[in-house]
Formats: sequence, C-alpha cells, structure tokens
Amino acid sequence: MSAPQPAREELLRRLAAAPALDLLVIGGGATGLGVALDAAARGLAVALIEREDFAKGTSSRATKLVHGGVRYLAQGNVHLVREALRERARLLANAPHLAQPLPFVLPLYGARGRLLEKWFYGSGLLAYDLLAGRARLGRTEFLGRAATLEAAAGVRGAGLAGAVRYWDAQFDDARLAVALARSAIARGALVVNHCGAVGLLHEDGRVAGAVAVERESGAQYALRARCVVNATGVWVDEIRRMDRDPGGELVAPSQGVHLVVGREFLPGGHALLVPRTRDGRVLFAVPWLGATILGTTDTPRRDLAVEPEPFAEEVEFILREAAGILERAPTRADVRSAWVGLRPLVRPPDARPGDTKTLSREHLVLAERSGLVTVTGGKWTTYRAMAEDVLAACMGRGLLPERAAGATVALPLVGAPARAQQPVSAPPGLHLYGTEAALVASLPGAERELAPGLTEAMVRFAARYEYARTVEDVLARRARLLFLDARLAGSLAARVAAILDEELGAAFNAAESERSFIELAGRYARLPA
Ligand SMILES: Cc1cc2nc3c(=O)[nH]c(=O)nc-3n(C[C@H](O)[C@H](O)[C@H](O)COP(=O)(O)OP(=O)(O)OC[C@H]3O[C@@H](n4cnc5c(N)ncnc54)[C@H](O)[C@@H]3O)c2cc1C
Repeated sequence: MSAPQPAREELLRRLAAAPALDLLVIGGGATGLGVALDAAARGLAVALIEREDFAKGTSSRATKLVHGGVRYLAQGNVHLVREALRERARLLANAPHLAQPLPFVLPLYGARGRLLEKWFYGSGLLAYDLLAGRARLGRTEFLGRAATLEAAAGVRGAGLAGAVRYWDAQFDDARLAVALARSAIARGALVVNHCGAVGLLHEDGRVAGAVAVERESGAQYALRARCVVNATGVWVDEIRRMDRDPGGELVAPSQGVHLVVGREFLPGGHALLVPRTRDGRVLFAVPWLGATILGTTDTPRRDLAVEPEPFAEEVEFILREAAGILERAPTRADVRSAWVGLRPLVRPPDARPGDTKTLSREHLVLAERSGLVTVTGGKWTTYRAMAEDVLAACMGRGLLPERAAGATVALPLVGAPARAQQPVSAPPGLHLYGTEAALVASLPGAERELAPGLTEAMVRFAARYEYARTVEDVLARRARLLFLDARLAGSLAARVAAILDEELGAAFNAAESERSFIELAGRYARLPA
C-alpha cells in the first residue's frame, strides 16, 4: 500500500501560500510531469499547473508503445534509437505495473516481396536488437508461416509467407501520467490539475511566474518562480504569446487517429506492424487492455482543438490497411471508440540574439531571452531523458541552481511493484494498481463491478488518491473505458457521477459532469460519415 498523500485542497492551500518557487511547470502531460518529477527528485521547490486533467492532451492518446522507433533506425538515426531503447528499459523497471514488454510480428506476404522484405526488415530489426544491448527484451527471429499463424492469432493467412518477430513494449499512458503526478507530489511538488495559466508575470523584462485560475472555484493564484517551463504540447505558442509576440508559430499540429475494436480481431498476445502502408506510413494493430488498437494516421490540421475529431478518410485508411493484415477485416460497425491525438511538429524559429535552442529530431528545448523555457515534441518513451535536457537548459542559463542529473534513472513510481503480474494487453483490473491494489480492494464497493475490470472502489480511489475531479477524469484517464468502449463508458456516467458526488462533496457538479461526459462519449462512439 502507498497513499495517503496531500489532498488537492491542501495542495491549493500550499500553492497560495508558497513563497517564490524554484520552478513552475505549465502543462501536465508526459513532458511537464517528467520535468516536475525530476526537479522535485533533485530537491527543488516545484509547482505544476494543468489546465484540464493530467494527460488530457496528447499524452492519453498515444499508440501506447514504449519503443526505440524502428522507423528512426531505417532513417539511420542510431543515437536517437539507442537513447529510446535505454529509456524503454528504465520505464519498464520504474513502473512494471503500467509498462511491459510486448512481442511484435511483422507479417510478410507474397512470394516476390518475401525475400527482399525478409532481408530488409529482418536485418533492420536485428540491428535494433544489437543497439538495445543489455536492454534487449527478446530475440528478433524469423518465423515460418505456421509459426506465425500460431504466435499471432488473428493475422491474415492468405498469401502469408512468414514473419519477423521482434520485441518492444507497451504501457497505459494516462495512468502513467497520473503515477508521475503522484510521484512528484510525494517528493513535495505542488501538482494541480484543472488549474490553467492565463498570463505570465514579468519583472524587469524577465518572466517571473504565472497567473493561474483554478477551474472549480475560479480562484486566481499569482505564482512566482525563478524559472518557468512551458510544457504545453501543441499549445506552447499560446504561452509564448503571453510572454511577447513570438513572431511566428513554433508548432504545426498533425493529428493521429486510433480506432479500437474487440480483442477477437487479434486474440493472441502479439502486436502486428505494417512497416509501410500504401502511402508510406507505419500502422500498428496492438492488443491493449483487453481490446485491439488500430492506428495511426498523420494528417496536418490548422486548429488546436482539445477534442479533435477524425476525418472520414482517416477511418477508411485505417480499416483498409488493417484488413490487409487481419484475418477478420474490421468494419465501421466494429469500432468501439475512435480517438485523436495532436502531434506537435516543431518548426524551429531562427535564433534571436540571447535565445538558445536544441533541436533533436524528436524534441525542441527553447530558452528565450525573457527566461521562458519552452519544450515540445518528442515522445512518451523518452519523457525522462527530455526532462533532463530541459533541466540542463534551465541550469545552464542560471535559471535554476545546479543539481546533478540522474535522480529519476532508478526511481520507482507510485504503486510500482517488484514485478508485473499481468501484461498491459490483459483486460483491466486490480493489477494496474500495483502495490496499491490492496488499498483499492479495501474501499467500499470493491465487489460492485460497474463494467468488466472497473469497480465502484476504483472510482472512489480515483477521487481520493488520484486527483480525479470529473466523470471524464475517471472514465477516460483513471479507468480507460472511454478509449476502449465509448458507448459502455457513456452508459456509466450517471453511476460514476453519483459516487463522485459522495466523494467530492460541494465542489462537484454532478449534473454537469454527467452531461458533458455523455456528450464526449457520444463523439468517441461516432464515426464521421
Ligand atoms: C497519435 C499519436 C501517437 C503517439 N504514440 C506514441 C507512442 O506509441 N509512444 C510514444 O512514446 N510516443 C507516442 N506519441 C508521442 C507522445 O504521445 C507525445 O510526445 C507526448 O504525449 C507529448 O506530451 P506533452 O506533455 O508534450 O503534451 P500534452 O500531453 O499535450 O500535454 C500538454 C498539456 O498542457 C496543458 N495545457 C495547455 N495549455 C495550458 C495552460 N494554459 N495552462 C496549463 N496547462 C495547459 C494541456 O491541457 C495538456 O494536458 C504519440 C503521439 C501521437 C500524436
């Protein structure tokens, strides 16, 4: 058992009373939470504010892979792949209840392409293994047709010649975000959701903090900090504009759609990979929490919607490509949930005098003259290494006191058990709570299931210890039902609202929380015509 920990009201009280902080992080996705945890683990005084809920943005909408990026290897970017493989091993060790190894099968079809593809992809994946070194999760190997059909039940048999099998890992992205938030809080950080930055504070032309508004009370907080990190994902330009006219956008958003279908489409424990779709992208079919995720796409868009919707052609594309590798072709009627994440494609600005920027293929850290440090891009897998880069930039500019890096390399997150009990591909259940499973099971309603793998006690736990404030926080990001089966999730809104009403008291608006979640679930359940 872990918990207890400070309640949200207590965190807000400390935030209001806080003298100047060392670091204020704006944005509670993978990036911001990683920075807050690392800084807190190094003994700094840290606060983080998140406008919506932890991982409400891109960080709950990933393909759920902890991976080195086979794609980058094909581009010859060895350094990037090696770093991601190292981080993969660290994440698996620090949160084994939420991140675990997963075998992948790359099916090879047709006689002509067979040899060439086998050689091309096989040698690439062998190199992937070698790069992983001691962090290797399993051996890359060639499978014949029969072995492929046996290992990867659900793979299309017609024309199948064999496969390359390799190992990567998968995780529960939103639960990992909540675990990061709680781990930072456990080290003294003041981490608060539903509390957004509406302006920056300046002193002598330098950024000196931010003004935050807490959503439930409308209360304003003037938060002073030596260093402000803008980790708002695709929304970083909004914060940059609060500093000064940035003279152009840093981020061009591109959306990625996922469709979720039943586990019967991929009943084995393997994921499938299409390394090159008809239009040159990568597509995955991934067993996840008892269902199958299909995706993703890469479609530029202009707006920065909090809840972007899929385009009809993206849905058609995913279904068509999935039909090429699955024995049973999924149709629109099989889709239980469709969700969309926004990727921040970074357009690095021309450096102005006094600015510094480090751009890796994956992420950008921009320290501006005013002292505002912006970070965007990257991937979930490398959130920890990105946090070290961000803190190095802050310390390098004298914005934070020097503290040695490495505090989070071997830092188990809240709930981390010594060893995982179930793979992440298994249906949801108590195992996702790691060492806290017994505490969850001791709460009222532990025997009352609202849906498979979701009990009344889990809803109470979400409210008491995981900082859930709305029906959506519970059903989208503490339990993942909105992403797994949106109709079923919508049907539970009233019951979850009633439990939260008991747990959260006057601050909770049950009718509004229920209504807005039903509306959201309707959108995830509906496909564009
Ligand atoms: C379709 C897709 C699939 C992906 N799949 C994978 C994968 O399988 N594996 C992998 O490693 N990576 C994957 N990624 C990448 C990974 O998801 C992202 O790199 C990561 O989630 C980005 O996190 P972030 O914290 O930078 O952004 P976000 O998660 O978007 O967080 C930014 C946060 O800032 C908040 N915010 C905005 N404005 C304010 C404000 N004014 N005040 C306070 N808070 C504010 C937002 O509400 C949001 O929560 C994928 C990305 C996409 C788009």
